[in-house]
Amino acid sequence: MKWSIGLGRLAGIDFRIHITFFLLLIWVGAADIAAGLEVSDAAVSVLFILALFACVTLHELGHALAARRYGVATRDITLLPIGGIARLERIPENPKQEFVIAIAGPLVNVAIAAVLYVVILVSGIGVPEGFDFALVEVPFIMRLLTVNLALVFFNILPAFPMDGGRIVRSLLAMKLPYTRATSIAGTLGQFMALVFGFFGFLGNPLLIIIAVFVWIGAAQEQSQAQLRSIFAGLPVRVAMVTDFRTLSPQDRLNDAVEKLLAGTQTDFPVVDDARLVGFLTREKLTRSLHEHGGDYPVRTSMNDDVETLDETEMLSAAFERMQQSGIRSMPVLRGEQVVGILTTENVGEYVQVATALGRAASAALGRSTTDGPSA
Ligand SMILES: [Zn+2]
Repeated sequence: MKWSIGLGRLAGIDFRIHITFFLLLIWVGAADIAAGLEVSDAAVSVLFILALFACVTLHELGHALAARRYGVATRDITLLPIGGIARLERIPENPKQEFVIAIAGPLVNVAIAAVLYVVILVSGIGVPEGFDFALVEVPFIMRLLTVNLALVFFNILPAFPMDGGRIVRSLLAMKLPYTRATSIAGTLGQFMALVFGFFGFLGNPLLIIIAVFVWIGAAQEQSQAQLRSIFAGLPVRVAMVTDFRTLSPQDRLNDAVEKLLAGTQTDFPVVDDARLVGFLTREKLTRSLHEHGGDYPVRTSMNDDVETLDETEMLSAAFERMQQSGIRSMPVLRGEQVVGILTTENVGEYVQVATALGRAASAALGRSTTDGPSA
């Protein structure tokens, strides 16, 4: 995530902190001092925020470790002023696995609250009576217990794609088709976003930010689930560009420019002796042109460490990979030979056609072009 600072790596997960988080700390401390509190009290407030976010981190770690049980890696965990985000490599489509991963986070906060409760009992601070955690006089540890319970409550609200929404989706997906379950959970999530937004405008700006996140997130999840259902079981080759031009490593950049301007293709596989040796994207081409001029060879301008796809790979996984790494196009291979280019644009067109024809016809569309080794 942009504007975030790496804190280090633990259990194969990068921990990052967004710089706006420091603004939150400064704001909390400054607000206390502006309200006439002692510096030491302001320091306690800042310390409290840090403790709260340590609990949030453990919550995210709960998701990450549950995901690992199912072979799903976590790229990173980032702390933002509105909470933490664990970026899982993927969300399992198996509803039971999604359920466990979703509920693991809130369960961590339940466990923390239970431990704190025992500490409170043992240490003789006394059982908390009122939960007025906004007051500075309430012992630190009780406030921490209360916010952990608040975290549990907030996260299990059915505001898809928040934890509670994922729990709802996974429970629905045990009975209904995945897309239908996602659609219901998404609609419920957007309704919750409206509720958050309403209460936000009544006086809590943080809720408005969360409402926007939930609204956008729910829409994204819905379209992703729809794509998955369109792509289900289809290989890369059904949506790849098969009418394309290639370059040879001996070509000059001028040759590449000619091909770029002649058609709509923007990225070119560089082929030597029928073998893929590189890939020249439009960006690389224009940069090289600017630096070296049109007589410069393609060989030294191309990207020679090319990520490729096999034509039999699953389209859904390939497309997700492209979206996540922000790649616009990838060469598709049959053995060593380049047989196509998968571009996000072409996949988009495929989706439009498939949607227009309906699911059944789109499967037929996939099969009719099947001519590879797995046919
Ligand atoms: Zn969570």
